[in-house]
Amino acid sequence: EKPVIGFLGLGKMGLPMSLNLVRGGYEVHGFDVVERSREAFAREGGLVHASALEVVRAADVICASLPGPTEVTDVFEGMVAQEGREHQLVIDFSTVSPQVNHRVAEALSRKGIEYLGAPVSGGVERAVDGSLTVMVGGPKSSFERAKPLLDLIGQNVFHISEDVGAGSVVKLVNNYFIGYYTLAVAEALTLAGEMGMDLEQLFSILNVSYGQSRIYERNWKLFISQDAYEPGFTTRLLIKDLHLAKDMAAAKGLDLPMTDVLIQMYERAAEHGYADLDMAAMYRYIQDVKNA
Ligand code: NAD
Repeated sequence: EKPVIGFLGLGKMGLPMSLNLVRGGYEVHGFDVVERSREAFAREGGLVHASALEVVRAADVICASLPGPTEVTDVFEGMVAQEGREHQLVIDFSTVSPQVNHRVAEALSRKGIEYLGAPVSGGVERAVDGSLTVMVGGPKSSFERAKPLLDLIGQNVFHISEDVGAGSVVKLVNNYFIGYYTLAVAEALTLAGEMGMDLEQLFSILNVSYGQSRIYERNWKLFISQDAYEPGFTTRLLIKDLHLAKDMAAAKGLDLPMTDVLIQMYERAAEHGYADLDMAAMYRYIQDVKNA
């Protein structure tokens, strides 16, 4: 007997992830505050609801792909911890801090609701083809319960430890790299362009050199080479994650000076209209600054 699934947050990641569960033969109930997302979900066989509460009432397993700590706190502490029922399982794919995972898990456990912090990496492309990397923290027994679902959305599914915040630690470290690399790509390609290099040729050489990275490949192939910055992963969400990484460091008394530089650069770009473009548009922002 397959559990009934609820999915909260049908955005750029949540929509394709939830649809892979539909295709896997699950009954999936969903809600998003944005009507367009609800319609897209319903068109592809999802059972759409008028509120998150209705979804929570219908589901045995509640998945979430929400923007960040504010929404996760509102939905889980504010609502699910009140209205949920014993033995439900929450799988939280949102990128938040380990502290938020701990707080939410604690609130839900008072109701006998299980919780896994399960942030993902791989972007919209891998969400669509079901090949995400999933970084899970939480009780092993909850992980085993979630595993058939996780296998439908991910190709590399890791149970890191029993600590519900463990996935967030790995994810925020991952996105710290992403913050560095994206800005490095933006500046390095600007420099190469100024030197008259053909950027396609540069990519073919550096892709087999130490300058190679997944982020260089992603940002170049999917965005910069097309001069198109439809997200993807927005600059706004990357700024959120860099702040979360900085806070995580600060809580350990650790000062990482580059986090401040990165945050300042991305925030400046956001103020100039880049917040809701893909982060790869930092290349275009550096061009703007160069030409100003
Ligand atoms: P998104 O903004 O496209 O999706 C979030 C969705 O949540 C939106 O559709 C929004 O309307 C909805 N929402 C907000 N509050 C809600 C509420 N109270 N109830 C129901 N729905 C609500 O963002 P995304 O890019 O899909 O990212 C989702 C999460 O995944 C974020 O935590 C992000 O950091 C993380 N993430 C994103 C990517 C990526 O490449 N886009 C990759 C890995 C992880």
